[in-house]
Formats: sequence, C-alpha cells, structure tokens
Amino acid sequence: MIAADTIARLKAAAGAGGWSEDAGEIAPLLVEWRDKYHGATPLLLKPNSVEAVAAIVKVCAETRTPIVPQGGNTGLVGGQVPQGQVLLSLRRLNQVRNVDALGNTMTLEAGVILAEAQKAADDAGRLFPMSLASEGSATIGGLISTNAGGTGVLAYGNMRELVLGLEAVLPDGRVWRGLSGLRKDNTGYDLKQIFIGAEGTLGVVTAATVKLFAKPAATETAFVAVPNVEAAVALLRFAQERAGSVTGFELIPRIGLEFVLKHVPGARDPLNAPHPWYVLIEISLHAGEAAGVAGDLLADAATQGLIADGTVAQSKAQAQALWKLREEVSGAQKPEGGSIKHDVSVPVSSIPAFIARATAAVAAIAPGARPVPFGHIGDGNIHFNISQPAGADTAQFLARWDEVSRVVHDIVVHEFAGSISAEHGVGQMKVDEIVRYKSAEAIDTMRAIKRALDPSNIMNPGKVVRA
Ligand SMILES: Cc1cc2nc3c(=O)[nH]c(=O)nc-3n(C[C@H](O)[C@H](O)[C@H](O)COP(=O)(O)OP(=O)(O)OC[C@H]3O[C@@H](n4cnc5c(N)ncnc54)[C@H](O)[C@@H]3O)c2cc1C
Repeated sequence: MIAADTIARLKAAAGAGGWSEDAGEIAPLLVEWRDKYHGATPLLLKPNSVEAVAAIVKVCAETRTPIVPQGGNTGLVGGQVPQGQVLLSLRRLNQVRNVDALGNTMTLEAGVILAEAQKAADDAGRLFPMSLASEGSATIGGLISTNAGGTGVLAYGNMRELVLGLEAVLPDGRVWRGLSGLRKDNTGYDLKQIFIGAEGTLGVVTAATVKLFAKPAATETAFVAVPNVEAAVALLRFAQERAGSVTGFELIPRIGLEFVLKHVPGARDPLNAPHPWYVLIEISLHAGEAAGVAGDLLADAATQGLIADGTVAQSKAQAQALWKLREEVSGAQKPEGGSIKHDVSVPVSSIPAFIARATAAVAAIAPGARPVPFGHIGDGNIHFNISQPAGADTAQFLARWDEVSRVVHDIVVHEFAGSISAEHGVGQMKVDEIVRYKSAEAIDTMRAIKRALDPSNIMNPGKVVRA
C-alpha cells in the first residue's frame, strides 16, 4: 500500500500528463505477450523528460517506494510486469537525439521503438542491425535492459555489444550521464555494462549511444531444407567460409513450419516436398560484390550433401515472406494450445546432440508433447518450446511447466555447459531458477552489486536476483 502523500508527490514529479490512474489505459500494461503474468499497480507514471524520471526516482528513494520500469512490454519473462509497485513507462521518452553518420553512432532515448531506431539509421544511410520479431513495439531501453539478441547477433553481436554509451537514473535519483560514442575508454569499470541486462533492477536507462554500421548494398535470402541438425551446423560454417557476410542463420523444424502454414494466413511452403529441418539464411553484400552469392552457395552445399533442397528469394517481397515463416514460428504455437518455453544456449557444435537429448527426455516424461526447437542456431541459442500433445488439456499440460523445465534445464547446464536464459533474461520467471544453476560466487556477487546500488531494493524488486 503506497501512502497517499507519496502518490501525490510522484504525480507532481511526473508533471502534467505524466501519470494516469485510468484502469482502461493501465490494463494492457499489466499483461504480457504470453499471458503468463498478470500484474497490478496503483499508479502509472509516464514522464517525457529525463529530469522527470530523476524526480520520480528521487521520491521513490526518499519514501522507499518500489518502482517497475517498462518499455514496449514485449519482455518474455515478466520483468516489466508490476506486482503492486508503481509502474514507470518510458514510452514518452522517445526522441532520437542525434545520428552521427560519419562517426557511425546514434543517440536515442529509452522509449524509441526499435523499428523507428532502424529507420533513423537507414535515413542517414547507415544500418542499426538489432532485429527481432517484436521490433514494432520493443524499445531501446527494454532492449538494453534485457541485453536483447535477435537475428542479427551472428554478425553484429547482441545489445551489449552495440551500446557505446548510456544515460541512466540511479536508484537514488541522480542522473549518470555516460553517453559517449567512444570506441575506446579504459578509465576504470565499464559502468554501462552493469545496466545492460540488469532488467531495471539497478536503475532506469534513459538514453543510449549505439553503434551504426555500413548499410549492405543488397541482401540475399535463402530458405533451405537440411536432412538433420548436424547438417545445419555444418552448413553454417560452410556458408561463412564461402559467403563472407552471413547476417542471418535461423533453424526451423518441420513441425514449426507446419504450424505456421496452418495458422498464418497467406503462408506458403516455399519448397515442393516436406523436409525434417530448414534453415533461413541471409547474406549481406556490400557495394562492388557481385550478386548471386546465395545461389552459388546453395549449389555448392547441395553437391556436398548439406542441403536437400532450397530456394533463393527473387524480390524483397519474397524475402519478407521467407522471414515471416521464421518470425511466426512462436506465434503459430498459440493456436496449438499450451506451450512450455525454453530460451537456452549451448555451444554451437553441441546443438545437434542437445536437441536430440532434450527431445528424447521430453518424450519420456510427457509422451505426445511436441517439441518445436527453433531459432538462432548460429549463436547456439535454441528456443526449445514444447507444444502440448494434440487435443490434451491445456491447463494440465501447463501445470507441468516447472517439472518439464527442470529436466530441460538440467540437460542444458549439466550435460552441455549451457545457459538457461540465452537472450530473454531472468525477470520473475527464472529468479529462483538461476540460483539452482549459477555458482554461489556468481549469485553472491550479483547480490552485492544490487545492494550497493539499490540498498533500499526499490528498483524492480523480486526480479533477476533477490536482494
Ligand atoms: C514476438 C516476440 C519476439 C521476440 N523475439 C526476441 C528475440 O529474437 N530476441 C530477444 O532477445 N528477445 C525477443 N523478444 C523479447 C523482447 O522483445 C525483448 O526482451 C525486448 O528487449 C523487450 O523490450 P521492451 O521495450 O518491450 O521491454 P519491456 O518488456 O517493457 O521490459 C523488459 C525488461 O526491461 C526493463 N526495462 C524496460 N525499459 C527499461 C528502462 N528504460 N530502464 C530500465 N529497465 C527497463 C523492464 O523492467 C523489464 O525487466 C521477443 C518478444 C516477442 C513478443
């Protein structure tokens, strides 16, 4: 219960138009994409300046009022969902402050939506390579706070590698102005990295300076069938040797494609016959490089027995249609009923063995359940989602989430030295789970950092690590 005078102070700090108690406006911000977490808040704050964010956090610090930052609300681990705390939406902090095409940097406020950030870079003749299926809603602040990955990690790195400088409101309400486009700066601890991936538990990200890249002159997109996952991994290395700039490499199982063909209007199988596995490959060409790289790659790969069939998009529309088949794999699981999700990573060379092992383990404990392992195979990141047995009771299946996850996560960590959260973060979903799998030294160090920066535990409490 938050005291009435604290609520009044928070409203004053947010300024006119900077807060809301309207249930209709707040309701969509309390549920998330998977409908797994349902939240509650006494107050929505929606400031549009860094000064207002700082004033709000200062009130929270003085009154020990917990606060939950939220960007686009596309997070998949419940980190952005308040459980009775004040909700701080950063969406109105949405200015592109600067694009420096020559310096290859761009400075954006936290609430800028990824698609708008990509466009700002594109308008300046540059590429901002972060790309994921939620890019129409996810914000820069959320992407930084979750250290988002996506499809471009293979060539450009995850968010941690794309951020050069940061501006953040500290848990005491002071503003740390660390915006810098410097590529080299070894003046002590790299503070920005503490906030990247902290999921709002150490402060509020208000702006960032990010890296830009040369815009490819063209991209070529291919959809290929591979006989097995081993061939997919071999094809990755083959493609990187032959084609140079492989900027996308995504694994799709037949069952995932079937779900998309069944549930996504307009989706078409690009190949003539069904195959057990597919890979979506994107190759970027720079000025002066001859077109046709993807076609040559497919021909060579076929002679090596790495691919069984394949097609290269002949137009931008065709490329988009192929990408849509990949991007809809997750959404197309929804009409199939309950799905137990895992966002895991293992060494790339271990992916075939991991998928085989985890699939067999799931079959043993949940006969009829349908694994749909897909995703960023080039980064070793598999979304090992498991759809319920056809026709089974959804609630009963989902009630087994923790039991099934324990089996999958044990295999990931104990047999393959992998991670139980590759790119989505910890949020509230895995806050206890990471204690099982990370070392005591790692958890103690995380807690020490949390207590040092946020001694009153007001920043997104109960997420990532318990104080
Ligand atoms: C269809 C779909 C596809 C997706 N694909 C991918 C993918 O390929 N790769 C991937 O990595 N993720 C993916 N995601 C997950 C999600 O889009 C990312 O985690 C994204 O970075 C979240 O951004 P957001 O602005 O929506 O943040 P939110 O969901 O609003 O918040 C996420 C976390 O960041 C914190 N936070 C938000 N803004 C701030 C801020 N300014 N300061 C401090 N903390 C803040 C929140 O408290 C919360 O803990 C996908 C999600 C969906 C729905």
